[in-house]
Amino acid sequence: MSEQKIIDGKAFAEKLRGKIAAQVATLKSKNGFTPGLAVVLVGEDPASKVYVRNKGEQTKASGMNSFEHKLDASTSQETLLKLIDQLNRDPQVNGILVQLPLPKQIDAQAVINAIDPDKDVDGFHVVNAGRLATGGQGLVPCTPYGCLLLLKDRLGDLAGKHAVVIGRSNIVGKPMAQLLLNESCTVTIAHSKTKDLPAEVRRADIVIAAVGRPEMVKGDWLKDGAVVIDVGINRIEKDGKGKLVGDCDFQSCLPKASAITPVPGGVGPMTIAMLLHSTLVAACRQHGVALPE
Ligand code: NDP
Repeated sequence: MSEQKIIDGKAFAEKLRGKIAAQVATLKSKNGFTPGLAVVLVGEDPASKVYVRNKGEQTKASGMNSFEHKLDASTSQETLLKLIDQLNRDPQVNGILVQLPLPKQIDAQAVINAIDPDKDVDGFHVVNAGRLATGGQGLVPCTPYGCLLLLKDRLGDLAGKHAVVIGRSNIVGKPMAQLLLNESCTVTIAHSKTKDLPAEVRRADIVIAAVGRPEMVKGDWLKDGAVVIDVGINRIEKDGKGKLVGDCDFQSCLPKASAITPVPGGVGPMTIAMLLHSTLVAACRQHGVALPE
């Protein structure tokens, strides 16, 4: 019973990666090109290094080309912008991702906006945010896009559902709300100034928690049968050991929810799978071919 309630993002992402690998193989054999993803890392942030390594490994495992650019922490904005310009013009590179955060001397938004929007596989460029808001064909931020696939897999048509998104960041909360609106949900966006968060959450058929506060959303905030997508990744100390927890208190939410993503193993694994998917989509558009079935 409980197991059916738990949304297995790891298994879903694995299946998706398998499909992407088959699509890449088709593009190679039928269309004669291999999609390529360039990942740029500036500095030595340990978490960023792990993310970049995982992205590179999964890109190669899918059969795509992976181009890694590792720059010193003291790199100037000008040098980084020159590299972006070079990658924008490189036909082997279909997707460009600059790992965030960037060192203080670099304006992250200026760098993101220097990426060719059609290669902006993170979907953070202002043009892609605009396309998402206005219904144009763009590239969608990977984490909310992954959440949407998990929701549609569980619920099918989302039209008319009341969704409450907690968090309004440019990388998760806002694009998530926009994606749900595009699916004809009625969307509430909550944030740190929201007056009565439990009351807002109690109205929701779908709860998306993207806050960055360990186990904040409690089971008694939920309507019976709500679907809960927990985006949060928080490292806490419990019983003298380090542990990863989400923004939802899993133990109290599980009995009330009809479905819930665990942390780890829920939304997290979907993010890189969606990055590979977006690279594939970008490559197909750049070559003017349809995405293989
Ligand atoms: P941000 O810190 O950029 O945004 C957090 C949002 O939560 C803000 O909008 C903030 O409101 C809101 N908030 C903070 N405190 C409260 C509160 N007490 N009540 C209601 N709202 C509150 O975080 P991100 O969006 O980047 O990330 C959110 C979480 O998702 C983090 O745990 C992060 O680690 C995780 N994450 C996971 C990913 C994955 O792959 N699974 C990818 C990206 C992020 P305000 O705007 O008013 O300050």
